[in-house]
Amino acid sequence: MPLRSRLAWNRTIGELILLVALAAGIGVWIGYPWQMLTAALAGVVIWHYWRLRVLLTRLRSRRRSTPRVGDGIWNELDRMLYRGQSESRHSRKRLVQLLRAYRTAGAALPDALCIVDRNTKQLIWFNEASQPLLGLRYPDDLERNVITSLPQLPIAQLLAGPLDAEATDVASPNDPSITLSMKVIPYSNDLLMLLARDVSRLVKLEGMRRDFVANVSHELRTPLTVIHGYLDMLDGEDYPELSPVLTEMSRQSDRMTALVEDLLTLSRLEAQATVLEKERVNMTEMLTLLGRDAHGLSQGRHTILVENLTDIDLHGAFKELHSAFLNLVSNAVRYTPTDGRIVIRFFRTGNGGAVLTVSDTGYGIPATHLKRLTERFYRVSNSRSRGTGGTGLGLAICKHILNLHGGYLEISSEVGIGSTFSCYFERESVLEPIVSDSNLMTAEASIEH
Ligand code: ADP
Repeated sequence: MPLRSRLAWNRTIGELILLVALAAGIGVWIGYPWQMLTAALAGVVIWHYWRLRVLLTRLRSRRRSTPRVGDGIWNELDRMLYRGQSESRHSRKRLVQLLRAYRTAGAALPDALCIVDRNTKQLIWFNEASQPLLGLRYPDDLERNVITSLPQLPIAQLLAGPLDAEATDVASPNDPSITLSMKVIPYSNDLLMLLARDVSRLVKLEGMRRDFVANVSHELRTPLTVIHGYLDMLDGEDYPELSPVLTEMSRQSDRMTALVEDLLTLSRLEAQATVLEKERVNMTEMLTLLGRDAHGLSQGRHTILVENLTDIDLHGAFKELHSAFLNLVSNAVRYTPTDGRIVIRFFRTGNGGAVLTVSDTGYGIPATHLKRLTERFYRVSNSRSRGTGGTGLGLAICKHILNLHGGYLEISSEVGIGSTFSCYFERESVLEPIVSDSNLMTAEASIEH
């Protein structure tokens, strides 16, 4: 108990003892000790009840009170209540100020910001930018269901998706020339934030970058073909003094051609939203082809193993998938020293999908590089990549092709031990083997026997 309260308590008890002693003394003196004592105690009880009533009235009135002066226990209680009231009033004021500041900040944001009830999907609040970007009107759209208020936007999918779900390249319902990037951020048990950002400029710039790279690559193709043609006509044996120069020129022109072709492939893939012509990709045929490619690239320097552990096929574009897998095989050959081992394996995954892995016992990749490997022109070692004829675009192309097939690339590696590149495909991309009539009859006959 704090000192002040202890003193107040002691004083009240002291006063009570003094009063009882005084009443008893007077009672003995006038000859009515018990009556005096009873009257004094009744007075004390009445006085305490009266103070209790005053306190309750004060609490109920919620009026700002002034602290009492005095040393008794009731005055101390009064002072404590006054202090509690002042503190809570102060913190409430601070909270209101903070809330106003957040609201003003939210209202001033250039992005559309809506607060939505997680259970009822009702719009609780939205800022000014929500009007031009989402077409919301104040106050008509308040309290309305956000999904039905904005039917053109993929809000239902966003809300049903994972916590950090994002929708890019969405046209604004208010102005189709505005492209939005939308995100849902749950921030409490009851509320979530719906954010929509105007990314029109970014999309335009991205388009310009893509067109620029595609146009430059395209324009470079013709002069390169001409240079290549002339270089082919110049035989080193006819000009022995120029022979090393001609060889280097040929090598560099081959590298440039590969670079231009890879850039064009990447631009073409980026412009495609999905694989246009899907077909049954015969994986037995694919693996045979990859094995042949690997042997051709390795020229007998590595042990190559191809394992098809399932009879399923994939649903996709054969040419594109072959190009993705070939990039991985060619990397495995290029980044594995002579006598290394390369294994190409295709099998089902536990969730009904499939995976094609290319493993090698090569140089391996330090863990810090793994995340960035699929970026354009990202290389672990520039000299090793260029020395082996790499363009730095192979894994970027591979990732894009897998994305177009709804799949993804996973890389695991250990320096000095080797790497494994795994191409994962969802269940939707898997096609069960075709059971022909003759196969069925053979199967039935073997069951009968
Ligand atoms: P590059 O044409 O340079 O090989 P890629 O995009 O195919 O470009 O690969 C990017 C980088 O990843 C390579 O430069 C190389 O450093 C690393 N890399 C790719 N595959 C392997 C592998 N199997 N073993 C070791 N490093 C690899």
